[in-house]
Amino acid sequence: MSQSILDIILAILGGIKPNTPTIEPARTSAKYPVTVLLDAGHGLTRLGSGDWNYQRDEWYGVLEDLAVQSIALGTHRNLIECKKVLLTRPLPGSTDGESPGVSGNPRWKEAAVYWLRSVLDGHPQAHGVTEVASSGTDRDKDINCRPRYANLEGADYLISLHVNAQEVKRNKPLDARGVTVYYKYGCQKSKDLAAKLYDVLKDHPFHGDLDPQKRGCRDGQEFTRKKGIMRDCACPVVIVEFLFYTNKDDAAILADESNLIWAGQRIAAGLKLHLDTEG
Ligand SMILES: [Zn+2]
Repeated sequence: MSQSILDIILAILGGIKPNTPTIEPARTSAKYPVTVLLDAGHGLTRLGSGDWNYQRDEWYGVLEDLAVQSIALGTHRNLIECKKVLLTRPLPGSTDGESPGVSGNPRWKEAAVYWLRSVLDGHPQAHGVTEVASSGTDRDKDINCRPRYANLEGADYLISLHVNAQEVKRNKPLDARGVTVYYKYGCQKSKDLAAKLYDVLKDHPFHGDLDPQKRGCRDGQEFTRKKGIMRDCACPVVIVEFLFYTNKDDAAILADESNLIWAGQRIAAGLKLHLDTEG
């Protein structure tokens, strides 16, 4: 008996959850026949000391590692017309998300690499997705597994969700605010999607003053060359940086979860605008 049939029978007999990850099933009659990978960045990670910590610093009570999961929630809820929506980390409130992971904390708080290891357990190419250096800290090691997972699943789009940080320099005010969406250098679909996402995000009702030289829809050439997420991804990829947690006014917006959900909804709307014009 195949594992999938056994899983179904077990699920029917005892209400037992099959030992498969919470991944959206393919919707055969979906309006948009695309597979989308939603990547909420960062998450709890094992340090070289063996302790666990978040990968980004907390500012004004905002922690990027967790805030992005609320954005993902808003996006995920609003993409039911897509054939398949995959996640690099399970969402808060989901059965898998709330169950304890390898750190002992709920899995929705942990970095993608730990979740993907469990999702791909036994998969012949699992190591290719989740391999990280065997020593030292796991910090930022999960970045490479995100595009590898997109490639493994044959994703049509990868949307990487972040909130932004300004580099701290002496005597420089932390005044950077607003939204930046990066597209993959040389990829027209990525560029069009990024433009659509920026359009729907820039009109948020709480927007601060924008410096058009610094914010907006931007060529991710720097990322494409150096950073795994754009360099290694076969499909169109965008990096969304929603506001700056290093700025007090932006952080106050980010601290309200309803604004993060709003951003997520807008990202779903922007993707659908892109798909409407692509199709
Ligand atoms: Zn980030």
